Amino acid sequence: MSLRFGREFVAIPGPSVIPDRVLAAMHRPAPNIYEGEIIALTESVLADLAELARTRQARPVIYVANGHGAWEAAIANLFSRGERALVLDAGRFAAGWGEMAARMGVEVELIATDGRRAVDPQALEDRLRADKERRIKAVLTVQVDTASSALNDVAALRAAIDAAGHPALLCVDCIACLGSIPFEMDAWGVDVMVGAGQKGLMTPPGLGFVWVGPRAWAAQGDLVTQYWDWRARAEPELFYQRFCGTCPTHHLFALREALTMLLREEGLEAAWRRHRALAEAVRACVAGWAEGGALEFNVLAPEQRSDVVTTILARGVDAEAMRLRAHRELGLVLGVGLGPFAGQAFRIGHMGHLNPPMILGALGAAEAALIAQGAPLRSGLAAAAETIARHMDKDGR
Ligand SMILES: *Cc1c(COP(=O)(O)O)cnc(C)c1O
Repeated sequence: MSLRFGREFVAIPGPSVIPDRVLAAMHRPAPNIYEGEIIALTESVLADLAELARTRQARPVIYVANGHGAWEAAIANLFSRGERALVLDAGRFAAGWGEMAARMGVEVELIATDGRRAVDPQALEDRLRADKERRIKAVLTVQVDTASSALNDVAALRAAIDAAGHPALLCVDCIACLGSIPFEMDAWGVDVMVGAGQKGLMTPPGLGFVWVGPRAWAAQGDLVTQYWDWRARAEPELFYQRFCGTCPTHHLFALREALTMLLREEGLEAAWRRHRALAEAVRACVAGWAEGGALEFNVLAPEQRSDVVTTILARGVDAEAMRLRAHRELGLVLGVGLGPFAGQAFRIGHMGHLNPPMILGALGAAEAALIAQGAPLRSGLAAAAETIARHMDKDGR
């Protein structure tokens, strides 16, 4: 029978759960978009976006767009037709960004992993050393690949570029993990960072962000069109130009509330620690399931498993049937296997507005669906609960 009742729970890697407070912040009349509160609110959001990316140098720019729009914005501003990008893929998403660049007239070169590990900084260094003519203008990659769930070491990629003595810009898509795991734009030497509102930032889909570092600002190519031009948006004569038209009023109200929750109330580093603790619970649970022999972590090395999404390969059970039942009968929405993982994996998203009852509930419901689907498994729930217990205060205060 179906036990689905009440609120569904989305445990997909974006869009993620929207807090009630963020929903409520949108429930208000349309404001004046030419003067008054919306201008000050936008300025405060931009200041917080810089803080979020840990940058004093880069300029944050907001687009009325999803993550793909922010991808296109970055490419359009950086490149001229025929210039070269080196794409480092660890699953699906960087390759997707590269496909978009190729379609726009950029020459794209791809270095891809087998989908089960992070990109290799040594491979980057070797390729850049071999680029004697310095044709590669920028390196495009992601911090977390949302398909494979691999975590790339962004600081190590910057070190590889520097070790090769190559001038390439470093462009990083942090859409999946921004606000949820450590990211240091200035300290790690990132030139362009791309984000979106609907994952760790707990806001409805519809906002894309690009942070433009000084070297990227100076490197503008000729692909840029009026809508994507980050210069006009970062240095507008009129507020109206910040968004190349009407500002996304209610999305800005939502984002303001979400950033207040994240930066002013919880604190960014506390949010990183929360994500680490909840991700450890997910991994403890999956390790238990894996003992049954039908399921395994996609990412092989434990230190390369991200704290925001976990991809689970399903060998001895029909992952798609299980996933559909989890939704239909339990009201739990799990992520599909994407790209090379289609039909062979499912994903648990664990980013954004998430707490222990939510994640333990999601893991318990997923385990029930796996059992109902006949997966041979060892329960992972006790290990998940023990992991959460280890993070609780010793003396109960
Ligand atoms: C979700 C995601 C995207 C795409 O974002 P959309 O808003 O769906 O366009 C791109 N890159 C990464 C790493 C993502 O997780």
